[in-house]
Amino acid sequence: MSTNAFKVEHRYLELPDSFYTRVKPTPLSQPAMVCFNHKLAAQMGFHVQDEAEWAGVGAGAELLEGMDPVAMKYTGHQFGVYNPELGDGRGLLLWETVAPDGTRWDWHLKGAGTTPYSRFGDGRAVLRSTIREYLCSEAMHGLGIPTTRALFMISAKDPVRRESIETAAALMRVAQSHIRFGHFEFAAHHEGPEALKTLLEHVITLHFPHLISLPDEQRHQRWFEEVVERTARLIADWQAVGFCHGVMNSDNMSIIGDTFDYGPYAFLDDFDAGFICNHTDEGGRYAYNRQPQTGFVNCQYLANALLPIMDEDAVRRSLRRYETAYNEHFKNNMRAKLGLEETDDSDMSLIMDTFSMLHEHRVDYTRFFRGISNLHRHGYAPMRDLFADRSVADEWLERYEARLQTETRAHDEREYAMRQVNPKYILRNYLAQQVIMEAQNGDYAPLKELLKVLETPFADQPEFEHYAALPPDWGKHLNISCSS
Ligand code: AMP
Ligand code: MG
Ligand code: MG
Repeated sequence: MSTNAFKVEHRYLELPDSFYTRVKPTPLSQPAMVCFNHKLAAQMGFHVQDEAEWAGVGAGAELLEGMDPVAMKYTGHQFGVYNPELGDGRGLLLWETVAPDGTRWDWHLKGAGTTPYSRFGDGRAVLRSTIREYLCSEAMHGLGIPTTRALFMISAKDPVRRESIETAAALMRVAQSHIRFGHFEFAAHHEGPEALKTLLEHVITLHFPHLISLPDEQRHQRWFEEVVERTARLIADWQAVGFCHGVMNSDNMSIIGDTFDYGPYAFLDDFDAGFICNHTDEGGRYAYNRQPQTGFVNCQYLANALLPIMDEDAVRRSLRRYETAYNEHFKNNMRAKLGLEETDDSDMSLIMDTFSMLHEHRVDYTRFFRGISNLHRHGYAPMRDLFADRSVADEWLERYEARLQTETRAHDEREYAMRQVNPKYILRNYLAQQVIMEAQNGDYAPLKELLKVLETPFADQPEFEHYAALPPDWGKHLNISCSS
């Protein structure tokens, strides 16, 4: 294959062999390349002239020299219930590549067939959900939020049974690490302290090298603290951008703090604090406004797993960092979204009152913040028009303008900065749905166009104005299938 400038390693295999099982992919038939991420490939150290060359690898029909596919073993808490039976049920870790700039990438082929951890699953992924994962990982990256990435995806001829018969697909997901909180739960609850310690040192060596030289106890505590902080910051980023993950099980929490495993996620359209995007989540455990707390609960599961090898007080102290880190990062995010540079004691109440207002009047979250990023450039109308009752908008504007009096930045300077944090384009569910329907009819061009728009979500893109529109009636509150 063409001009690969990357080196191959596979350091996951340095873990004890209970952490994985070698599995060959079960090939899919007649694969077609749907989408290839050339920019990402370049970053990873290779260039592709002929995308089709990679279809065989995506289909699991071809392994490149050095690929040594394994299904990873992990466990985890699903909706609060511990499940010891988890692991890669349909994805395989193929290898790790090292780019010329030293960045490392794990390649994980999702949809590659059954493994010893498949339970009742068929080991497959469908076109619909694979497109959703591809789109959202790239949208998140565009928004500057840590995430796994999508390198390429293929579709195939094999039928896959879900609610109906669907098209098979596979995604080459890449990330610095595919290790989850659930890996630690597996080690702690089934393997014992030696394996747990090995896993911990493995993660530190690979992903937290700045901690390596610290003495044992300090190294472990600093590491856990950093995991807790990264998790808190990630969720503060989700809240600020209006993202709802939907399946925040501890096996879907990345140890390096990436957004991980895209299922029935949604970006909020009309703001609803209690929004539940996963319709199998009847109790709303993973509702939008419960995500911050859920992130903490997941850190607690991780903390419990670490107790056999770490001092309990140290673990407890690190856990406390969650709330501080979350509040600090969330406040900074929201202050930036509101364009506030000076500090004022009333800022937090302005932030919370803004959320209450958006909730009460079901205002489009993304358009609201983009609207106030252009108040003095485009006038009040685009923002006011989001409210059925304009007097609510006027009252808020009056308070906001009064607060802006204490700012020293010029209006255009502030609004420019606000447009760098308040996206114009967001991956609304209906947009994803539209390109999925086109793709299911064999046309991948709309998918590629949407991906292009989401690459720079903060830029005005006049030719793509329609992607920033409010959802049409059919596109509001779509019932997204949770099967994938
Ligand atoms: P998720 O809810 O997506 O986090 O998946 C939970 C578990 O189910 C993981 O261990 C997955 O590997 C496994 N899984 C999900 N879908 C399938 C499938 N179609 N076939 C086999 N395993 C699956
Ligand atoms: Mg998962
Ligand atoms: Mg999943």
